[in-house]
Amino acid sequence: MKTTFILSSALAIHAAIVAHEVDIESLDRAIGDGDHYINMKRGSEVIASMVNELLPLPPDEVLQKISTKLLSTIGGASGALFASFFMGMAKYLKENHAKINELNANLETAAAFAYGVQSMMMRGKSNVGEKTMLDVLVPVSTTFTIAAAHGKNIADICREVKNAADKGLEYTRDLVATKGRAAGLGERAIGHLDPGAKSCQVMVHAVCDLLLKK
Ligand code: ADP
Ligand code: MG
Repeated sequence: MKTTFILSSALAIHAAIVAHEVDIESLDRAIGDGDHYINMKRGSEVIASMVNELLPLPPDEVLQKISTKLLSTIGGASGALFASFFMGMAKYLKENHAKINELNANLETAAAFAYGVQSMMMRGKSNVGEKTMLDVLVPVSTTFTIAAAHGKNIADICREVKNAADKGLEYTRDLVATKGRAAGLGERAIGHLDPGAKSCQVMVHAVCDLLLKK
C-alpha cells in the first residue's frame, strides 16, 4: 500500500461524505442522536487538511497518525471504532513489512483492511447482523480478499466490492440494532438503514471510484 493511495483516498472520502450530507444526517436523526454526519465530516476534513504533512511518511505511520487524529477529533462511538480500524491497518503493515513483496499488492491491501475490520470488531465487541457499519465492512472485506486472492484485476475487484457494500447497507434495513444508540429502539429501528453502514458504503464507493478512474 502506498502513502499516495491512502491520501488520495482520504481526499475522495472527504468529498464523498460532504456530498452525502442529507442521506447520512437523516439516518442518524431517525435512529441515533443526529450527530453522525457532523462526526464524519469533522473527521474526514481534519485528515484531508493533513495531506501535506503526511505525504513524506511511510504508509504504516500515515495510518497510525490518522488513527490518533480521528480518536481525538470524532466524538461518539464511531471515533473510537474508526481509530481502531486505522490502527489495525497500521499494525498489519508494520508487522508484515518483510512479507509484503511476496504478496500481490491487492492482496496486501485486502489483508490490511481485514486486520482493520477485526480490530474494529474487537473494540466494538460487535459482529455482523447487529445493524452497524460492520454489516458493510465485513462483506466488503471478505469480497475484497476473495477477489484479490483469485488474482482479479482492480476494476473487477472494485465492482464486486461496491456491490458487497450496497448489499450490506440494504441488509441493515430490516435488522433490529443490538449495538450503539439504535439498540434502545428495539423494533422501531426496523425499516431504517444504519447511519454508520451508510457512511461506510459511501466511503467504499469513493475509494473504488478513484481506483476505477485510473
Ligand atoms: P454515536 O452513536 O456515539 O452518536 P455516531 O453517531 O458517530 O456515534 O456513530 C453511530 C454509528 O456507529 C452507528 O450507526 C453504527 O454503525 C456504529 N456503531 C455504534 N456502536 C457500534 C459497535 N459497538 N460496533 C460497530 N459499530 C457501531
Ligand atoms: Mg450519533
